[in-house]
Formats: sequence, structure tokens, C-alpha cells
Amino acid sequence: MSIWAMIPLLVAFDWVPPVPLALVQAEFRPAAAYGSGHRGMDLSAAPGSAVRAVAEATVAVAGPVAGKPVIVLLVEDPTLGRVRVTYEPVIPEVDVGDLVRAGQQIGTLAAGGGHCGHPPHCLHLGIKQNGRYMNPAPLISSGRVVLKPLS
Ligand SMILES: [Zn+2]
Repeated sequence: MSIWAMIPLLVAFDWVPPVPLALVQAEFRPAAAYGSGHRGMDLSAAPGSAVRAVAEATVAVAGPVAGKPVIVLLVEDPTLGRVRVTYEPVIPEVDVGDLVRAGQQIGTLAAGGGHCGHPPHCLHLGIKQNGRYMNPAPLISSGRVVLKPLS
């Protein structure tokens, strides 16, 4: 069992997994002082898969950032406050300023971009609160859908 699987889920706000089969390809690793870390988690999914809003949110970015197709959602979580959720690589089906519901399709997984651009393909999901990256796993795991590390 990984560390994050033992963190109790304290949020009542509705967060949902962004892809249907939430298999974890790479876990969140906070950056060490001189290490690169991994500022998010990678969920295995095939290019073309539907990608969903993890919570009710406003679209802040929908389109290429540094050559990568990216979506950024702003979530007002009652417990955490405002958090910034970054998805990549995702071809957006929403526009900046759109309001989206938890579970609503916001785009499709692209085949290239970032460290998820080569097989096995994945969705990189990053969550930032007050300028600091958080582990997305406790938020998007639930009694209904449990994230499983690939092994
Ligand atoms: Zn990643």
C-alpha cells in the first residue's frame, strides 16, 4: 500500500477521477531540495479517451502552453479554498471562462506532449494550492473509484 492510500479522505466536496480507469502510472513525489520530483500524478489512458472535470470549476486555460495542449481548471473547494488543476496533454472541448460540472467531459487525451507523450500513454494531473503542488490522489480517490498503482 502506498502512502497516499492511507491518508483519510476528509473532503466532502465532490471530486471525481478525470479518466474512467484510474490506474496510476506515476505517483506524486514532492520535489526534494535538489531533486526534480513529480509535480502531479500520471493516470494511464489511451489517446482519444474522454477526460473529465475532477470537480465543479471554471476553465482558466484551454489550449497550447509551451507547445503542449493543456487545460487548467480553477476549483473553489469549501475545505481547500481555490485550487488550480492542470491536465496535460489534453485537447480541449471547453473554452476559457466556461463553468464545468464534476464529471463533465472537457476534452480528449492527446497522443503527444510532456512525459506522457510516449507509450504507455497517460494523463498528467497536477493540483496546486497557494502556489504549492499537492498530491491529487486523496482528492480523486473515493469509495466508488479507487486508484490503483500499476505493478
Ligand atoms: Zn506526470
